[in-house]
Amino acid sequence: MDPVREMLGAVLDEVRGEDGGATAQYIPELASADPEQLAMAVVDPRGASVALGDDALFTIQSISKPFVFALALDELGRDEVLQHVGVEPSGEPFNAISLEEGTGRPANPLINAGAIATTGLVPGPSARERADRIVAVLSRFAGRPLEVDETVCASEAATGERNRALAHLLRSYDVIDGDPNAIVEAYFRQCSVLVTVTDLAVMAGTLAFGGRHPVTGEQIVSARTARDVVSVMTSCGMYDASGSWLIRVGLPAKSGVSGGIVALSPSQFGVGVFSPRLDAYGNSTRGQLVLERLSEQLGLHVFEQHRAIATPGLAVERDDDGTVHVVLDGELSFSGAERVLTALRGVRRPASDTRVLVDASAMSQLQPAALAVLRTEVEALGGTVQTTRDGADATA
Ligand code: GLN
Repeated sequence: MDPVREMLGAVLDEVRGEDGGATAQYIPELASADPEQLAMAVVDPRGASVALGDDALFTIQSISKPFVFALALDELGRDEVLQHVGVEPSGEPFNAISLEEGTGRPANPLINAGAIATTGLVPGPSARERADRIVAVLSRFAGRPLEVDETVCASEAATGERNRALAHLLRSYDVIDGDPNAIVEAYFRQCSVLVTVTDLAVMAGTLAFGGRHPVTGEQIVSARTARDVVSVMTSCGMYDASGSWLIRVGLPAKSGVSGGIVALSPSQFGVGVFSPRLDAYGNSTRGQLVLERLSEQLGLHVFEQHRAIATPGLAVERDDDGTVHVVLDGELSFSGAERVLTALRGVRRPASDTRVLVDASAMSQLQPAALAVLRTEVEALGGTVQTTRDGADATA
């Protein structure tokens, strides 16, 4: 058996016996979900995925929020979006009336008030058109056409007075424009989009890999937008349990009341988990346990110390005429540049006029300040740093 599948299967088995919490009671269609369901999926940067557990389709709920925030950021720009919604942890439950004094701006886009404000930023003359645009973008993140569960949507609309009240409050502060009922209706549809854990893993992966879809290779949103969204997920993704989540698990994440959670390890992988019983904060109890164990076993906490972070590969070759070629690959970070310089100082140069050519053209990422330091030192040795294959210096 594949060792990754085996390890993930063992994690699911460990948490299966946990039966704390209850399905979301305030939305009748969610209250009646089978509480025993348990599933997870993981996707890596090359798009390879592993899915285990129940083959369930469930509604995305609040997990839609970071992706709609991404859509708004990409279309309107950060400054415009932040006029309508903040990026501060609210320290309050997901459906709280967390509005900034005076402006009425919701604390962040991952609580309901902020999510409704964000949905209001997506252009759409009618509720349906706005919702269609949102479903289309969620589908691009998932890499397949997603559908709305009309029964859940109707159930949510039938019991959604609190969200309607939030929308009307936002309208009273001019945080949203137009008809608040139409905006909240689009929000109900966005929450009722059906997904699998593999969809969630791929969607989270797209944010983990700088906005690039791991399977299709399509750039869905800019790398900057992906980074902004992941930042907000880190501080606000688990509502008023976000602080203890960061200490315990240390992965940017977002939960939804149907029992799904997305999490990601930046540049490494995206994860989706699902189990409908929720704790008092509205976060899946077993879903959290799965991610906690995964983070522990694989050392995934974002602030885990890594000694070899971004250490470039380095090979030294010599020409017939004595020129020393130092070929780098991988990623050049600031600390990585220091290591390259140490290695260069140790390279034997038969004569003081021996040419040194540092070839960084195959590197996947060059941090500009690190490159500047490397270049200064190499040039002091009379050498050259080349950043493109044909020798032209793209970054000079
Ligand atoms: N549709 C849900 C609501 O608005 C989403 C909340 C959630 O998933 N936490 O109440």
